[in-house]
Amino acid sequence: MKRALQHARVAILSVGDELVLAQIEDTNAPFLARRLLEIGAMPGERRTVGDDQHAIAHAMLDLARTHVAVIVTGGLGPTLDDLTREALAEAIAIASGDSTERALLVEDPAGIAHLKMWFEDMGRVMPLINRKQALRPHASRLLANPLGTAPGVATLASAPISVYCLPGPPREMQPMFDAEVAPHLASTTHLIATRALHTVGRGESALAELLGDLMDRTRTPSVGTTARGGIVSIRIRAEGSAASARAALDATTAVCRERVGSLIFGFDDETLASSVGAMLLAQSRTLATAESCTGGLVSALLTDIAGSSAWYLGGFVVYANARKIEDVGVPSEMIARYGAVSHETAIALARGALHRMGSDYAISTTGIAGPSGGTPEKPVGCVFIAIADRCSQQVFSRRFLFVGARQAIRERAAVMALASLRAALLSDPCQSLLWAESELVRVEAI
Ligand code: AMP
Ligand code: MG
Repeated sequence: MKRALQHARVAILSVGDELVLAQIEDTNAPFLARRLLEIGAMPGERRTVGDDQHAIAHAMLDLARTHVAVIVTGGLGPTLDDLTREALAEAIAIASGDSTERALLVEDPAGIAHLKMWFEDMGRVMPLINRKQALRPHASRLLANPLGTAPGVATLASAPISVYCLPGPPREMQPMFDAEVAPHLASTTHLIATRALHTVGRGESALAELLGDLMDRTRTPSVGTTARGGIVSIRIRAEGSAASARAALDATTAVCRERVGSLIFGFDDETLASSVGAMLLAQSRTLATAESCTGGLVSALLTDIAGSSAWYLGGFVVYANARKIEDVGVPSEMIARYGAVSHETAIALARGALHRMGSDYAISTTGIAGPSGGTPEKPVGCVFIAIADRCSQQVFSRRFLFVGARQAIRERAAVMALASLRAALLSDPCQSLLWAESELVRVEAI
């Protein structure tokens, strides 16, 4: 079973100096990987090579030997640096064991007809340079490109390797994959079902401990974790017939939920903001914000959610002390005595936002995002986050210590502000959270 699946993997080869030099982002490979999964074909190795014929040919060969097929994108243009056709001919010649055979290209009449028609439709005569785009190796066929000059090229079933070459421009490559490649690679019996369970509150290693043997590399469905900006996602992958893959995915999801419990806030496309939004909506509660160090990032996450006006009233960006005092009503003596970055100020900000906006909950953030401004007691990354809750008549404040540069500190603070609100919404306001300096939460009356 394992062996069969391994063989079914499809490699993706991206071609272009601009990709190797990171001058443009490779969007073709991720697109292809996602599409392959959707059609039940497992993506295998992904590789990137520059505009060098031998390098492309050797990458094709290498990948074709270990995969059921290779999908190449790029290098089918008309210019001298477009060498994918030549590389494919070289790869076929080597794979067929006749290294003396010249890797010849033949001109495909259908390709010439396509090019002529393309330029005629634009009222132009085909430039000589474009003629090259009708060339293909012997043991191959052209793939139609209704959206551009470059036809794709695919090896014939009789060829010793299975390679599909598609044009680089995504708007040409994507429909060509769907029309000309997907039908050959799609499985009618095999489904690859994936699900992400997003968690917040623990680090990746703590989560791995909770998941335990579920993460065993030999287990099926497979369970893995990925961490990003304070959110750790559990990724489950099941393969098999449609019914068995889905059933296996659901069964493993249930076991994950048993072990990880309320740390899971959402599945797949759900975000922490959409999850707290749904909770606020279900409880008919409203929210306001008063942000200092996050400067509106919390508000941006909340208003990213369509329909958020049903539960998010709005917020204050109170960066300067004068704004904290005048806009939200933080007593100036309090700032003078405890500092703008303190439990006291965070609590006063949340309380002030709650009262001034008339909301049920309020989030506040105040901290030192750096790179300067840190002190031994309040180093860079020290952020206080408070949640005011009208229902319980309490304000909860936590002190966090975030690591990283200014941007990372601000983004992590915004995520943990939502995590703090989620804890309050779950009636577990003192829940220990990742990066919170201790489990101690300061609680005061509203
Ligand atoms: P080419 O087929 O190599 O002439 O590629 C033409 C254009 O397609 C490039 O200049 C890029 O703008 C785009 N392109 C090529 N490969 C990729 C890729 N992997 N991801 C995104 N765009 C690409
Ligand atoms: Mg190119």
